[in-house]
Amino acid sequence: MEAVKALTKEGSIHLVTDYTGIRQKAFRRSKKYAYNGKNAACKFNLSSFKDGEVKLICDGDVLEVLSRRQAIMEAHPGAIYLHQAEPYRVKEFNLDEGVIVVEPAKNNFYTTTLSRTDIMVNKVTRVEKHDRYNLYLGRVSVSEQIYGYMLKTYDKVISHYDLDGIPPVKIDTVAAWIQIMDLKGIPGDLEGGLHAAEHALIAVTPLLAMCDRWDVGGVSIINGYGGKPAIYIYDGFPGGIGIAERLYSHFGDLAKRACELVKECDCKDGCPRCVMSYKCGNNNEPLDKHCSIKILELIAGKN
Ligand SMILES: [Zn+2]
Ligand SMILES: [Zn+2]
Repeated sequence: MEAVKALTKEGSIHLVTDYTGIRQKAFRRSKKYAYNGKNAACKFNLSSFKDGEVKLICDGDVLEVLSRRQAIMEAHPGAIYLHQAEPYRVKEFNLDEGVIVVEPAKNNFYTTTLSRTDIMVNKVTRVEKHDRYNLYLGRVSVSEQIYGYMLKTYDKVISHYDLDGIPPVKIDTVAAWIQIMDLKGIPGDLEGGLHAAEHALIAVTPLLAMCDRWDVGGVSIINGYGGKPAIYIYDGFPGGIGIAERLYSHFGDLAKRACELVKECDCKDGCPRCVMSYKCGNNNEPLDKHCSIKILELIAGKN
């Protein structure tokens, strides 16, 4: 605590309200320390910004520098952006100039985007055939188009907004994906099951790939690869940083862990601890928890 006191005194950190919990069902507004950008991070020369970087500006000061992707996904027009756990509302969004102007938002609202993701396989580099499914690794092009957002508080949707003219976020990267060949014994809503399984697989990626769950993205399609149901997990970094390769090599284990996560959760039909994701571009629809367990068991080799 001595170090905390000293850092607070010199102004390097400060106590903030942690609003991140409002995305969970069990809402708890807690206090935590945040690094205070005033001393170093905000003093850099504006001319040193690279192309594609976007400055987040409040009261004439640069709060943060975002990648183009992060700017579009998290600081689009109307968004509530969390900076050092404090909420800011986006007032001006100018991607061409690389500038987003925000103002402090002192309330419990937050926003989540609505988007469509398309994935195209450019080259398959590895294949592993199993009894009931095939596992692939390859190079893909992912295109994510935001078409709206929702204003929420405590998990409750306050309103929906449409967004027009936001450019798609495109990356060429590496993905690991499964193609289900035999659907025998998989009950319920297959689309909801694939989607729920995709969320659960992503939730456990940090256990196997030394990454944050937000470093990867997912797509599930009922008429997916080769016309068969497919779940893709892709590396969120352009060109890939090795996450997909690692997931490919441990996919059975990944499915086993995801299956445990979903099965051991005592909710009835899915919750943020198992198959829901607050970053889901489809507003967590559709989801079928029970179908996802069967799909994950199939990949984990349990039936
Ligand atoms: Zn649950
Ligand atoms: Zn989703």
